[in-house]
Amino acid sequence: MRDILVVGSVALDSVRTPFGEAEEALGGSASYFAFSAAHYAPVRIVAVVGEDFPPRHREQLAARGVDLSGLETAAGRTFRWRGEYRIELGHAHTLETQLNVFATFHPRLGTDHRRCPFVFLANIDPDLQLEVLDQMQGPHLTVSDTMNYWIARKPERVIEVLRRVQIALLNEEEARALSGETQLARAADRLIAMGARAVIVKKGEHGALFRSGDELFVTPAFPVEGLTDPTGAGDSFAGGFLGWLARCGRSDPGTRRQAMACGAAMASLAIEAFSPARLVTARPAEIEERVRALHRMAHFDLEPLFDRSHGGEARSAE
Ligand code: AMP
Repeated sequence: MRDILVVGSVALDSVRTPFGEAEEALGGSASYFAFSAAHYAPVRIVAVVGEDFPPRHREQLAARGVDLSGLETAAGRTFRWRGEYRIELGHAHTLETQLNVFATFHPRLGTDHRRCPFVFLANIDPDLQLEVLDQMQGPHLTVSDTMNYWIARKPERVIEVLRRVQIALLNEEEARALSGETQLARAADRLIAMGARAVIVKKGEHGALFRSGDELFVTPAFPVEGLTDPTGAGDSFAGGFLGWLARCGRSDPGTRRQAMACGAAMASLAIEAFSPARLVTARPAEIEERVRALHRMAHFDLEPLFDRSHGGEARSAE
């Protein structure tokens, strides 16, 4: 079984960017992740929506093969997030967060959910992330994400999640807030000193960095021309990253490097439209071409730079 379990928000997002706006569109960390990862492997969502959740969103997820047996409908309103990106686009300004049905939600996992070998704890209350971890039966790989909202309100619980997963994903702002370090390489090291086994710091248009005790790897971002809405870039990155590992059924360092490129490709698609629309329409050949482009951008042949027999002088250029 190569299934991926995701717990996170399924939301109605209202977002304004310098390029337009969307009102109550499908959003949420679990939604972006699922649309992204479903290109690679089967995905099961554990989350809650309210009675007002439009049936067409469920249908769209189901049409991508996403298992929704763990998506509960509770009395009340769906989670809502309202955010704005200003011209610097680097990070979202949260204008409003309405937890609504998430305020009283507790995930109850079925047998198929508990046995998933790949687990993504998308951005949601860290208490819920821990409740999911407690119910899992020996997963192969666990990865977490979070947001400043939770770092500000429940920092110890966010750190506990980070200690219990194999890889913690954060964006640069979150890595700085949680570690107290401004320089990103130091922030990653500090998070490892705080108990993380490995971290991925997402740096928006500057790519992403993987850091564990003995490994450092970077991937560039795929340069998009039609940036429309950065919302969901992190979750879509996670979807490509875990999706590829699940598809391969392993998480060794070489496969992880490929997975970083798959993540970058999926993030670049997500930001070309409001909502996860581009993740839905993306074709496999298009995804593959973006991964190949990243490979061309970052690959170079290594040659000896200095001739050691002459005391380390630079090789002449003739
Ligand atoms: P990202 O841009 O990848 O960090 O994720 C954006 C998504 O996170 C949006 O679609 C929001 O619905 C969702 N979101 C925003 N705030 C929260 C929060 N406090 N908890 C869970 N999900 C959130």
